[in-house]
Amino acid sequence: MSSRIFKDEGLVLRTRPLGEADRLVTLLSRRGGKFEAVARGARKMKSKLAAGVDIFTCGEYTFHRGKTWPIITGQHPLERFMWFREDPELYPYGLYLAELTDRLVVGEEPCPELYRLLLDGWRLLGENGDRGLILRAFELKLVHYLGYSPGLHYCTGCGTENVRGFSPKEGSLLCADCRPADLINLETGTIALARRLLASPLQQVTMIRPTLRQKDELGRMNKSFLAYHLDPGELKSRHLLKE
Ligand SMILES: [Zn+2]
Repeated sequence: MSSRIFKDEGLVLRTRPLGEADRLVTLLSRRGGKFEAVARGARKMKSKLAAGVDIFTCGEYTFHRGKTWPIITGQHPLERFMWFREDPELYPYGLYLAELTDRLVVGEEPCPELYRLLLDGWRLLGENGDRGLILRAFELKLVHYLGYSPGLHYCTGCGTENVRGFSPKEGSLLCADCRPADLINLETGTIALARRLLASPLQQVTMIRPTLRQKDELGRMNKSFLAYHLDPGELKSRHLLKE
């Protein structure tokens, strides 16, 4: 019989009230993928659990297998990412990474790379980097780990490397001859930027200095690609980022 107690490290993506005093916590864990767990009594004033199950917490958790959800019986916060709580301008950026991860990662399939990506993303946003570019790199890497990497090397219509833009529907670059109706025109620099972001570790974003136009084009490419293939739906953070 498998043990009823298990431990894992987790990143809190979301919490919602459950019953009178509990919280249902959505975690991206290092070893167990994404799952929900109950923090009993976490909405009571004196709860010892409460602080360790807030969104933007990285912690070590102990669980007891319950009937419906695992129950959190112990927690030890490792990182609190206070900048998202203290800086209203930073908050939507951190929330966007959490929401996007929550919407796009479905099962409990373990994916340590995703765990690492979100941890790095939250850390990096607390430094003085280009936040918009961190979000674009995060999007590309997230879809890559989920098995939906955009085709960024040649035209998938005819194979030429002389590409003109990106088709969200095809999920790849295309040339002028094969251009479909939904082609988003991209300048060469934007294509190079997308390739570089996808290929290098997230931390290297801080060394890249794209133009406004390149960032704008990449933003449109990622947004339409995500909407077409993975449909994250309405995100609260997107509204906040627009404001
Ligand atoms: Zn072509």
